[in-house]
Amino acid sequence: MIVVKFGGTSVKDRAAIERLIEIVGRTDAPVVVVSALAGVTDRLLGIAAEAAAGDIDAASGNVRALRLRHHGVASVVIDPVLRLTLLAELDREFDELDRIVGALAVLGEVSPRWLDAIAATGELASSRIVAAALTAHGQTAAWVDARTVIVTNDEFMSAAPIADRTNAAIRTAVEPLLAAGVVPVIGGFVGATDRGVTTTLGRGGSDFTGAIVGAALGASEIQIWTDVDGMLTADPRVISDPHVVPHLSFEEASELAYFGAKVLHPATIQPAVARDIPVRILNSQRPSAQGTLITATRSSNNRAVTAIASKTGVTVVNITSTRMLMTHGFLRRLFEVFERHKTVVDVVTTSEVSVSVTVDDRRRLPAIVADLSEFAEVSSEGDLALICAVGDGIMTDRAFAGHLLSAVDGVPLRMVSQAASRRNVTIVIAAADLPAALNRLHDQFFGEHAGVKA
Ligand code: ASP
Ligand code: MG
Repeated sequence: MIVVKFGGTSVKDRAAIERLIEIVGRTDAPVVVVSALAGVTDRLLGIAAEAAAGDIDAASGNVRALRLRHHGVASVVIDPVLRLTLLAELDREFDELDRIVGALAVLGEVSPRWLDAIAATGELASSRIVAAALTAHGQTAAWVDARTVIVTNDEFMSAAPIADRTNAAIRTAVEPLLAAGVVPVIGGFVGATDRGVTTTLGRGGSDFTGAIVGAALGASEIQIWTDVDGMLTADPRVISDPHVVPHLSFEEASELAYFGAKVLHPATIQPAVARDIPVRILNSQRPSAQGTLITATRSSNNRAVTAIASKTGVTVVNITSTRMLMTHGFLRRLFEVFERHKTVVDVVTTSEVSVSVTVDDRRRLPAIVADLSEFAEVSSEGDLALICAVGDGIMTDRAFAGHLLSAVDGVPLRMVSQAASRRNVTIVIAAADLPAALNRLHDQFFGEHAGVKA
């Protein structure tokens, strides 16, 4: 069997759901996992904020708008009897949402537990629509209540599934349906504690549900249907002709995601990777495109670099101390400052007397510089960009460093870093140099004459 997970843009309206029906129809033994309709989770969280602020008029007006949007999409179910049943189910969800929002607006306070009850409405509603739509179009489907199969702890807003309980519940609910030739449809993102209290797995959690379901059932493949062709060799806002990466390893995907390639967060597909189940990213608007395949490991393809991630808005902090640096405990003291100010450090390089780190978040920078200045000389430089070449092939390509450096010849480098894993090399440059440097690197590694290792 194959898990087919559809993101918000792939269920956003009637036309999108019609495309979904076609894709599911072409799939062997599909199990369907769906996100909320595009934008709905944000809307629901907005409604929760309005309730917390006691603004009942705004909150219930927005609940009404969401109910109407779902009614509109429900028109994809042409059969009048099935449609009436669906509308009644949707109304039950939105009636309950109305009651929760009304009560919370009186209290003027929304706890994480109730935030999850509100946010879950999106996937509970979208999955009902998709189940009815498939049935109405001749593919008998059954709605599976995610709250009965994804058993989680009570860390509301980022609940962790309890693996054995969840796996058993998924098998019990889904396997008889598959055996009967029925298509199971499950809302992503949503779960419940063993006492039945609704939880959510965190933003973007529907991919996680897809991977959990696929792993529990031993799927032969997990397909993530989205609105792009797959992972690209570089940021299309900077490079005019990036290619789709046909195949990458889980480790490569992790490195790329870390530096901003946002198609899918690799942590969310960990359950699939752990069981060696291939994950494929596909475009529901261009279903014939080959997409990107992610597997635990991949065979070498003669290319050193698989993709190049980049981002701007990077700041480097330079910390110099001739007195302290080589004494033990110095690095701990240094990083404690960043920890204290809850600021994430991305790239780190060190020399005998100085340490340079990059940060994205400048909000606490003055306080960080002040604290570091108590024991070191500190300077910082903003308006920088980071380029990160990722590829399992970097480890074995003797010519890689030469190719990299010749491509950025003439561009001043602020930092260069390669970890011992040798799966990525990161350079930090002035943001103004990014377009030229990235284009030259992309040409070097993905241009017409690239790809042949020395
Ligand atoms: N609807 C949820 C969100 O927007 C989960 C998902 O789409 O993956 O975060
Ligand atoms: Mg999503």
